[in-house]
Amino acid sequence: MYLYNTATRKKEELKPIKEGKVGIYSCGPTVYSSPHIGNMYAYICWDILVRTLKYIGYEVNWVMNVTDVGHLVNDSDTGEDKMEKGAKKEGLSVWEIAEKYQTEFEENLKDLNINHPDILCKATDNIKEQIDLVKKIEENGFSYQISDGIYFDTQKYIDYGKFANLDLEKIKNGARVEINNEKKNPSDFALWKFSPSKTSGLPKRQMEWESPWGIGFPGWHIECTAMSIKYLGEVFDIHTGGEDHINIHHTNEIAQGYGAFGKTTANYWIHNAFITFKGSKISKSSGGLYTIRDLIQMGHDPLSYRYLVFGSHYKRGIEFSIDSLKSAQVALNKLRSYKTESLGKVDEEFQKEFIDRLSDNLATPEAIALIWKMMKSNLTPEIKWATLLDFDKVLGLNLANNNSDFDIPQKVLELVEKRKKARIDKNWAESDKLRKEIEDSGFLVEDLQNSCKIRKLK
Ligand SMILES: [Zn+2]
Repeated sequence: MYLYNTATRKKEELKPIKEGKVGIYSCGPTVYSSPHIGNMYAYICWDILVRTLKYIGYEVNWVMNVTDVGHLVNDSDTGEDKMEKGAKKEGLSVWEIAEKYQTEFEENLKDLNINHPDILCKATDNIKEQIDLVKKIEENGFSYQISDGIYFDTQKYIDYGKFANLDLEKIKNGARVEINNEKKNPSDFALWKFSPSKTSGLPKRQMEWESPWGIGFPGWHIECTAMSIKYLGEVFDIHTGGEDHINIHHTNEIAQGYGAFGKTTANYWIHNAFITFKGSKISKSSGGLYTIRDLIQMGHDPLSYRYLVFGSHYKRGIEFSIDSLKSAQVALNKLRSYKTESLGKVDEEFQKEFIDRLSDNLATPEAIALIWKMMKSNLTPEIKWATLLDFDKVLGLNLANNNSDFDIPQKVLELVEKRKKARIDKNWAESDKLRKEIEDSGFLVEDLQNSCKIRKLK
């Protein structure tokens, strides 16, 4: 297995620490709002990594965190906590917000057929581990205290910024407007932030804890170092994340690992590119912020999104559009239609080629191309189907499930839209009438918190 390692900027052969076993840590979601297709993109990529490793015989321990505290709106450790802000916006407690969106995230994992990580750990369940790690960094002389918290002294770590090829001088010069001018270096980052109630008499945060330095909460980066080493050991195999994690989040994780243990915590750091929509990264302003629930509600099979993701390499990212999603659905339905009554033997030549392509830094577009080549070959339909099902252990497209739930007629989609409007208007009689009409057309609507699901009546 070869993977592109950001740390060395090379494709490298994976050499696990323990033979036959691979430990993977993936930076997980910050649970303050509904995950959108851009958030879920990374987890589809890493699911393919995990499935490929298992397929070629490795035992995998996949750990993912859930950030439910400490992720501030601004990368320079200023501004509100995303969680506290999200809670205020919805009139819920921070704990309720965390639970609500973690539930939606796990539901999305299921919809996209992403295997549940072996360990999904919350930052708030690991506060003690984070405090202990900050203590270690402090004992080793890599931190200092200022009025709003404990900070990592990046100047003490000579290789700081090497991982991301950061130009520290430039950062220094560009940081004159920095709000926090007590920091020794602009790149220094918070390990522990004091509660505003301690420093300025402002109201207590909903989430804060006692610590040796006073009441407060952990900085965002410390949770990933603390939880990755807790579950995978001080040095483990693979750390994954989005490209946007390279400059700050992972650079700081690496610094923390060095500060605490004098070494880099992971051997391979791999990063996915992004989804774009009409050429720009999806966002509130540029559009494309669909959630998985939105796609389902619009009548799309979430697995067509999964198929679409495979069409472009994870280092390149994908350009998303509803049209390309529809084309993916057509391709997916076509694969499902190859189902045969009986199963032949898996074709070993194609299987070998399939493994070769995925082992080359997860070349999913090449793997998909190979599938279509196989479907056009002279193999018998039974062999094709058996081979396809075998490949589906990695692809996770649920190919055996021939009855797509998502072949929803336009007429039904229109009724669903009308019903949505009736519900917003609190016109319950109309909403019930429309539900009945939808059912008479053979579909069932299931209401969720902010949206609904449509399923074929069995
Ligand atoms: Zn992380």
